[in-house]
Amino acid sequence: MGKISISDVEPAAIAAAAIQSPPAPADYPRSRLPVSPALSLASFLRMRGPQASSILDAREVRFVTSGRVAIALALKQMGVGPGDTVLVPSYHCASMIEPVIWAGATPLFYRIRPDTTVDLGDIAVKAATCNVKALMATNYYGFHQPLPALRAFCDERGIFLLEDCAHSFLGHHGGRPLGSWGDYAIASSMKFFPVYEGGCLASARHRLDGVALQSAGTGFEAKVLLNSIENGFAYGRLPLLRALMALPMAVKNSLWGVIKSRRHGAAPALAPGSSDGGFGFDPAWLTKRSSLYSRVMLRLVSRRRMGELRRRNYRRLYDALSGLPGCRPLFASLPDGVYPWVFPLLCDEPLALFRQLKEARVPVIRFGEYLWPGVDATVCENSVDLSRRVLQFPCHQELRDDEIAWMIGQVRGAILGATR
Ligand SMILES: *Cc1c(COP(=O)(O)O)cnc(C)c1O
Repeated sequence: MGKISISDVEPAAIAAAAIQSPPAPADYPRSRLPVSPALSLASFLRMRGPQASSILDAREVRFVTSGRVAIALALKQMGVGPGDTVLVPSYHCASMIEPVIWAGATPLFYRIRPDTTVDLGDIAVKAATCNVKALMATNYYGFHQPLPALRAFCDERGIFLLEDCAHSFLGHHGGRPLGSWGDYAIASSMKFFPVYEGGCLASARHRLDGVALQSAGTGFEAKVLLNSIENGFAYGRLPLLRALMALPMAVKNSLWGVIKSRRHGAAPALAPGSSDGGFGFDPAWLTKRSSLYSRVMLRLVSRRRMGELRRRNYRRLYDALSGLPGCRPLFASLPDGVYPWVFPLLCDEPLALFRQLKEARVPVIRFGEYLWPGVDATVCENSVDLSRRVLQFPCHQELRDDEIAWMIGQVRGAILGATR
């Protein structure tokens, strides 16, 4: 068990830290390949074989506009509020913590181990000390946590388990779909489907009758649909449609200018900021249903194809990027039932490599790059290490073979060049 004591964590101080935005990202050129799935005709292809398990298999599911909104709604369903503590992982992105602050609760950061699993000894210590009402656990990169142990842990103490499936829309463990171990589970649709917004709140154990959602309006519906199509165009997908839509798109862009100038910036945004990559949390979206476009895509896109292609692309990256100097895949194997979000590579000198790859327009990302104020090595050395050292590369179903080959060539070249 760790030597750190609860008093070192000062949850109140951490909660009191202002919700601050991370520094503006450096101005890198736009990546050559889509970081997340871009819409193309292939998005609608099907693949024969059994359907992959998913958070959508839970008895109750609600479709909202982001994963963070789903977290906030889950906390609300649990009755989490001021005076309550929520155990959250030290390895995180701010959009996991903001909803806890919004609920008025105190986040208490628990440690995770070098392989990203929950430090069970640490949560046992922390669950005993504060007014803990819930435990949030993330299946990082699609790789499941020790979910049966976490379920038993929460049952013994009478606390809620919130299963964060933002990286694990698909998958199963211990004979159950991911997302069905928690009292509540959340997912982030944009990370897996060619959609511009979307999140899921699911529960295999509780009813979600209290969650009332309304349409966000036709402006929102139109914007979401057009943005998804335009994103496909931006990456050279849907060429025929692009030609057909050149005129309607020009009309739309000029109309958009008119609408925007009339709205004077004070009106609420047509689409959530969560769709544009920020970490912020906007309570205005708590009551809004996901767009019809996203909900239809969640049904139309073959989970089988998505799952199989993600595993295939992941293995290809794994084989090509293993055994290079100064780095190694974060996970040594790809177990059955894991359908990865991205391929995480643990690097000794990540910062220079990250910069170089970004300049070369490689779609590299860093989940957990910015930890919540106060979360440092005294809270969890492993999280700080992962936050700094893990670079991630997409393995989604909409990457073409030649695109993956190019990405692998760039990454190998950068790593081997640096050690020459
Ligand atoms: C992205 C993410 C979220 C939040 O999802 P959004 O749809 O971006 O709001 C929550 N948890 C984890 C682990 C994430 O990576």
